[in-house]
Amino acid sequence: MRRPSTLALCLFALAWWPAQRVLRRAIDLRPSPRAVRDVAVTASAGCPGPVVRGRCLGAARCGVGELELDGLCVSMGTVDGASDNPLATNVHVDRFGRRVVYEHLARRPEFPSDYRRYLYPVPPHSDGTTVTSGYDLDQPDHLQRRGSSMNAVGHGGVDLPQPRGTPVRAISLRNEVGDPEVVYVGWLFGNTVVLRHVVREGASLRTYLALHGHLDAPAPGLARGATVPAGGLLGVVGDSGADGIVHLHYEVRLVRSGVDPSRIEASRLNDQSVSVPCDPRNVLPLS
Ligand SMILES: [Zn+2]
Repeated sequence: MRRPSTLALCLFALAWWPAQRVLRRAIDLRPSPRAVRDVAVTASAGCPGPVVRGRCLGAARCGVGELELDGLCVSMGTVDGASDNPLATNVHVDRFGRRVVYEHLARRPEFPSDYRRYLYPVPPHSDGTTVTSGYDLDQPDHLQRRGSSMNAVGHGGVDLPQPRGTPVRAISLRNEVGDPEVVYVGWLFGNTVVLRHVVREGASLRTYLALHGHLDAPAPGLARGATVPAGGLLGVVGDSGADGIVHLHYEVRLVRSGVDPSRIEASRLNDQSVSVPCDPRNVLPLS
């Protein structure tokens, strides 16, 4: 067989070089579904942008409604497309001007949006008000709650107005298995009691934390490890850590799989690596 001439080899190389550059550029610019689905996005005090797989991505380069993941701008929304993992991703700018990307569980559309349709650890206020400030971590940044005296941007729970001293009682979440267990009594959102609820969802059991914050005081004798049946006393409404605004802050968080919240120190219970905020309407019983 004749060997290719030097001229033929040169012509092949000249044709191949620009062709492979175009091909590589096309592949590199195509968003990788795996990178979008599997990426774990967190925030760090030392990083001005999101942290992906431990790497600081720096300041934002993408437009409104987009997230920068591994150098790509992708539409904001559900990052993990698997049906058994409904976590969504959103972003807001914190009080220090940093862009914070976080995961959370938005309200599922099959559950009513009207807060008055649900049961809470305290009854509605005597003036008929149920919730004075709702869950907004699913909202665009500019619609999330901010206040001059508030450290956090956005609201991961609901605020329930009641007079000081009103009893706060444990409730059973929808499809709960067994009684909730106390995992923390102490200072978090002011005086706070945290319960662990196990909930059956389809074929899965999921663990949620319910934070009862700004209590005047927890119930006497309440301690980590105790189980509290529905109706059991958790404490009384107050304004601890809330600048004179007497109310119950009630927040529900989904515990990440593989994490045992009873082994986590209290200050990290609401860390994104331990649990993610959940719209409480996904798990609250209907009234
Ligand atoms: Zn609140």
